[in-house]
Amino acid sequence: KADSPPSSFTLDAIGRIESDYPDKFGIPRQPGLVRASRARLVLLPPYDDPLTVRALEDFSHLWLTFVFHRSPTRWTPLVRPPRLGGNAKVGVFASRSTHRPNRLGLSLVELTGIDTSKGVRLGLRGHDLLDGTPVLDIKPYLPWAESLPEARTGFAPEAPPQRPVVFTSEVEAMLAARSDGDSLRELITQVLAQDPRPAYRNGVEDRRYGLRLRDVDVRFRAEADASGEIILRVVEV
Ligand code: SAM
Repeated sequence: KADSPPSSFTLDAIGRIESDYPDKFGIPRQPGLVRASRARLVLLPPYDDPLTVRALEDFSHLWLTFVFHRSPTRWTPLVRPPRLGGNAKVGVFASRSTHRPNRLGLSLVELTGIDTSKGVRLGLRGHDLLDGTPVLDIKPYLPWAESLPEARTGFAPEAPPQRPVVFTSEVEAMLAARSDGDSLRELITQVLAQDPRPAYRNGVEDRRYGLRLRDVDVRFRAEADASGEIILRVVEV
């Protein structure tokens, strides 16, 4: 029998993410849920040779393989997906948990541009990547081979319900005064619509939550509107 192949490998980050998400709290569970999120993938030497991305501009979406560098290296065979309320356990390989052997992440993201004026920087949109995330590989997305809408999806059938998000007039005024006010408002709205609170806290609460987005601290509260529906009110940015 041919000598058995190696079972441990050393991998090199080919780039690093600069993103709108400085903290894990608030990042959507999957890419595509917050299309307003932006990031840059800055390639690292020696991979920052413009030849490595020749013709990549012909693709609209990319698969990124990356490391959950802010997750523990310890893994367990069973994990508690937040989508199941944090109690039910499934096998780590039946989940997209960040606590997994090798800590490998895989995200399908939109490519918005390529800048090769100084090294290589890729503009990305609709991602779920923490600022600083090391990226191991980039591949073009091939819908004819990979888009399978009829595939079965077990316990994670579809995206979670979206919450209505409202802003106080003070916050509206603050956003109006910023040059990126519109895109920041869109980012805050789409992130909070995912209701980033822990699954078991999904009602009205008399407490403020804070999360960091881009360069601001967003403070919000969960309230009920006249019909009793939960809304998230941004009270401070
Ligand atoms: N789409 C990827 C996948 O399926 O492998 C990630 C799914 S995982 C459930 C998404 C979460 O990973 C985000 O909500 C964020 O909190 C977390 N995350 C993103 N970048 C990370 C990093 N560098 N280290 C640790 N956790 C990270």
